[in-house]
Amino acid sequence: MDFNFLNQKDPQDKGKKKKKNTKWGGSLAGAVFFFMLMTALYLVVTGSGKATPQVSISDLANSVIAGNVKTIVVEGDQLTITYQNGDVKDSKKEVDAPLSQTLFDYGVPATALAKTDIQIKDETGFMYWFLNFSPIILSLLFILIFFWYLSRQVKGAGMQAFSFGQSKARVTDPNDKNNRVTFKDVAGCKEAKEELKEIVDFLKSPKKFLDIGARIPKGVILTGAPGTGKTLLARAVAGEAGVPFFHLSGSEFVEMFVGVGASRVRDLFKMAKRAAPAIIFVDEIDAIGRTRGGGFGGGNDEREQTLNQILVEMDGFEPNDKVIVMAATNRPDVLDPALVRPGRFDRKVILDLPDRADREEILKIHALKKPLAEDINLTLIAERTPGFSGADLYSLMNEGAILAARENRKKVFQFDLIRAIEKVMLGPERKSHLLSKKEKEITAYHEAGHAIVASVLPHADPVHKVSIIARGNAGGYTLKLPLEERRLQSKKEFIDDIAMSLGGYVAEQMIFGDVTTGPSSDLQVSTSLARAMVTRWGMSPLIGPIALVDSGGKPQYGEVAEREFSETVSTKVDAEVSRIINDGLQTAEKVLTEYKKAFTAIAHKLIEVETLEQEEYEKILTAHGILLKKKEVITTTEV
Ligand code: ADP
Ligand code: MG
Ligand code: ZN
Repeated sequence: MDFNFLNQKDPQDKGKKKKKNTKWGGSLAGAVFFFMLMTALYLVVTGSGKATPQVSISDLANSVIAGNVKTIVVEGDQLTITYQNGDVKDSKKEVDAPLSQTLFDYGVPATALAKTDIQIKDETGFMYWFLNFSPIILSLLFILIFFWYLSRQVKGAGMQAFSFGQSKARVTDPNDKNNRVTFKDVAGCKEAKEELKEIVDFLKSPKKFLDIGARIPKGVILTGAPGTGKTLLARAVAGEAGVPFFHLSGSEFVEMFVGVGASRVRDLFKMAKRAAPAIIFVDEIDAIGRTRGGGFGGGNDEREQTLNQILVEMDGFEPNDKVIVMAATNRPDVLDPALVRPGRFDRKVILDLPDRADREEILKIHALKKPLAEDINLTLIAERTPGFSGADLYSLMNEGAILAARENRKKVFQFDLIRAIEKVMLGPERKSHLLSKKEKEITAYHEAGHAIVASVLPHADPVHKVSIIARGNAGGYTLKLPLEERRLQSKKEFIDDIAMSLGGYVAEQMIFGDVTTGPSSDLQVSTSLARAMVTRWGMSPLIGPIALVDSGGKPQYGEVAEREFSETVSTKVDAEVSRIINDGLQTAEKVLTEYKKAFTAIAHKLIEVETLEQEEYEKILTAHGILLKKKEVITTTEV
């Protein structure tokens, strides 16, 4: 199997010239440097840089009369004079007149002339040519380079239109060892890898499958939350199978001109078929693969044409076209049903957020090239990062290394990673964000309110850190950590979560009799949670188990977006949302009144030290008779 599709001639292949241009690197600096080089060369060759002394013709004539001159070499109008005493000097004569005539004119007698050895040399062909024409050629060259440079500039802007049909796919060559990704680089995702092994097998030895009459899947769609490794896994499939990988993102299809999306698709498939076996990977396919015809106020024709073209190309695969189309999306719910019907993207591979063990594996992969200190405990980091995606973990490792480097350490320590967790989760600390005494107090009571409610309510996650140092958008933060990894959440948990979110609001109200803008994001969180409970998860007894919206929050019924559901249902939903919020408020109030001592103790401590870690925090709780939740998270290091 060779990999020569790029060398084959394609009548439409206008992109080739373009490639060459870019290879030239196109720097004006280069052109100027070249010009200067040529000029220097010219100067050297024409000899104006030579150190040989010059004599005038009249001096030369006198020397000849005196018999001091041994030889004169004539080369065009250049004279090289060698004296009896060994000196060598240069001179010039008139261009048209012969030397003998010139000397004669200066009064040199024929006898003296006869004693001197005069050699006439032809200017060498090349030298003659070069010396006479190089000034012209150099200036021409310079002008040409200048125009070429200008035209490139223009191409950059307006002339793009000439190449707009060309597929913009990036190709990864299977022989490129540096960029090769294999399944080893992808941690976790066991089921997904298992599923994709089949594809790898097929790409490696298609004959085995074709001989037995098996129909090979044409399309595989990878779905999962952002950062779960969809793109990475698609690369790994190509790397494992050792086939070229054509990579293009959905939004790149749809650019600027109408009709271009479809022609890009054609180009892409043509290229891939020439390189077969190969993988075409359309990343973020939801950009083009959304349900057709559903658009409100006229669909997007361009997008639909592109999508149609993809479907046509996939239908047009011959049984032995060894091209597999992979696609990735984090919105499988919006995809056009025609895309996922059998014969097209009929294989679905789902990537979940990594669980604790997988997170540790991912951390290990990204720790490989980083020098780690002895105290590093990746298990603990994995425990503290529920809900992190692969991409989050990658950036956690990176932030940890950056922190270590900024403090001029050669190794990454555990506390670098711990700090990195919070940085990835909440954004950078804003230590410079100075609070007035009053603001500090308000923030402390606010966070203490959240924390106490979370610690007292049975279904909320235990608190492991409270801080009033601003981070990202938050004025302060309370971090909770579930006792156990979980995939499902229950109504009771949501109810306690809402109360905990409102804890800050209630605390401000209770202590200061006033509310600030601080809880605004808390209110957003609790309201949308309450609304989702009612409309998505059937958790309101009044509405019952009816899903009024889909997982994207769009109304389930009807295309008409204005009218979500009937007036009566709408009113009921609003009433239910307020009831849930009100219940949450009351719960929070009850908790904070009952445990007011613990609540104020935490707030005072926060004003004093600004950040409370789990241990100190729990000490205060137990001192006030609040029972800790059963399982200790931080100390469980066993798998
Ligand atoms: P997606 O396409 O799903 O949004 P990516 O594949 O682009 O996510 O992942 C982003 C980065 O996160 C990858 O380049 C990789 O460094 C890291 N990553 C994600 N998932 C994993 C995993 N399972 N194993 C190792 N690294 C991962
Ligand atoms: Mg991606
Ligand atoms: Zn808050």
